[in-house]
Amino acid sequence: ENLTNQIAAGEVIERPASVVKELVENAIDAGSSQIEVEFFDAGLKKIVVSDNGSGIAADELDLAFKRHATSKIATERDLFKIATLGFRGEALASIVAVSHTEVVTSSDGISAVKAEFAGGQKLSSETSAGTKGTKISVSDLFYNTPARLKYLKSPRTETMKIVDIVNRIALGHSDISFTLKNEGKILLKTVGNGNLRQDLANIYGRFIAQDMLEVKQADPDFTLTGLISKPETTRSSRNFISILLNGRYIKNFQLNKAILAGYGSKIATGRYPIVVLEIKLDPLLVDVNVHPTKEQVRLSKEKELSRLITTAISSTLTSEQT
Ligand code: ADP
Ligand code: MG
Repeated sequence: ENLTNQIAAGEVIERPASVVKELVENAIDAGSSQIEVEFFDAGLKKIVVSDNGSGIAADELDLAFKRHATSKIATERDLFKIATLGFRGEALASIVAVSHTEVVTSSDGISAVKAEFAGGQKLSSETSAGTKGTKISVSDLFYNTPARLKYLKSPRTETMKIVDIVNRIALGHSDISFTLKNEGKILLKTVGNGNLRQDLANIYGRFIAQDMLEVKQADPDFTLTGLISKPETTRSSRNFISILLNGRYIKNFQLNKAILAGYGSKIATGRYPIVVLEIKLDPLLVDVNVHPTKEQVRLSKEKELSRLITTAISSTLTSEQT
């Protein structure tokens, strides 16, 4: 059981940024309006994610940390219309398998339960007074899987991956206030008032944000909204393109291509725009159950969506010129 957990943990939890992603997605699923992430030593010493969401009831805590325990899916049919970010029930079990984890959570805002886990085992739990929400602290990541540690890049790169994932998740949820701290220093703070342009200003800078163009396009299947840079504002990497599908940050080569096609020859090869594109669609049209990290998805109408994206971008750029 423990070994299975450690092997499976490797698929979901590759690096500190994976812990951050899973914990933040859980906080979002819990209906939080405020989420704070703090990390130390590129996330290897400690990662703390606190939220003001629903909390976990004391009698459900043990289950939440077991593999394939999810409160988000009740029936097999639910698997085909996933509205939450999580659903596999793997993240918490995977995280506690490869770290020292402490959780403090309260679902009623009166009493809280605090529990400690290490290497997949629960070490202790006690109750105290507490405010509603959840705080999960993950220390000594991969302390018992030294091979994993060897795969990690430099502390600088691992730190950038944490910052990158929090930025992108924040952009997909401008109605939630995010704070990101590295060893006490604030790296990002969003207001949480639903203003995407303001969030972009916080992340990429005010001058870039104020110049970005608004995209709005819909057909019976898809609704596209977002902000895109003018062709003259480009970057040398595609890392500044963020695609969010029903609030989930995804990686999709075809949709990236569709965005670039919308810019066409206005952008030189090897240059990339800054784009935040939010796609809303019926969950029935997307299969997120393709890969444990859920970053890859299968779309039923990918061609149609690609065409809509290209049209939306090129018409936004054209109407700007006239
Ligand atoms: P999944 O998100 O796929 O359901 P996880 O292992 O990430 O699986 O979480 C297991 C369960 O623990 C969730 O289904 C949820 O009920 C509970 N949970 C985890 N994090 C939180 C949180 N921050 N607030 C409230 N409930 C949480
Ligand atoms: Mg989850």
